[in-house]
Amino acid sequence: MTRLCTIVVLFLAFFSTNAKADVFAGYDAFCGLPVVVGTDSMIASARTDQQNRKFIHIDPGAMNNWTMSRMFTLAHECAHHLLGHTNPLGQQQRYYGGTATQELEADCWAARKLKEIGHESDLKATILQRANAGHFADPGYPTGEERAQNMLSCIGESSPERTRPAQCRNIQVPESYTSYDVVMQTNQVPYQHCGCNNFGQCGCQHQLDLIQVPVQVPVQRSRMVTRQVCD
Ligand SMILES: [Zn+2]
Repeated sequence: MTRLCTIVVLFLAFFSTNAKADVFAGYDAFCGLPVVVGTDSMIASARTDQQNRKFIHIDPGAMNNWTMSRMFTLAHECAHHLLGHTNPLGQQQRYYGGTATQELEADCWAARKLKEIGHESDLKATILQRANAGHFADPGYPTGEERAQNMLSCIGESSPERTRPAQCRNIQVPESYTSYDVVMQTNQVPYQHCGCNNFGQCGCQHQLDLIQVPVQVPVQRSRMVTRQVCD
């Protein structure tokens, strides 16, 4: 007991002096990138320093906001780095309107990672929080509902909307097929007339005869067929 108390006291002492820096210690183990804590309006962001080293910047406010999962926040920012969103190409994609796509990709990675490392309660809380945001979205970002749906499908759990019976309908689509036309073709066939004349001279005449023969020629055609499409 005493030893445990000592450990707790030591831990608390250590914790209070290093509170800001260490509250995220160990949380980044699944990411392998440094987490830097500092005041920042962005709360959390995936950044690159001047030497092109990737790191995650977190505002201490992220810790005060208990509606937000720290684990998910870290995993999401980590995903931006690991999925190449902070590379020049990724930045370019973002510049040309790829923000929503990248956000959904990062959410997807984070959702799978949290499930994999057993932080399902954090994951569920995040999905619920996103779903509660409904159709609300920051400009260029996916809506809360889109984010929630996306995370659910990433971890293989469909939302009620996704499990509704598939809507199917018949459509007419062109299909190409091969048919054969019979055409008459002129062939040359050799023939010979042999015989003997009145003087008893015999011989053969070689000639080519032209005859018409029917042949089958493949022709590509297209026809409309009915296909069922479901969505
Ligand atoms: Zn993001």
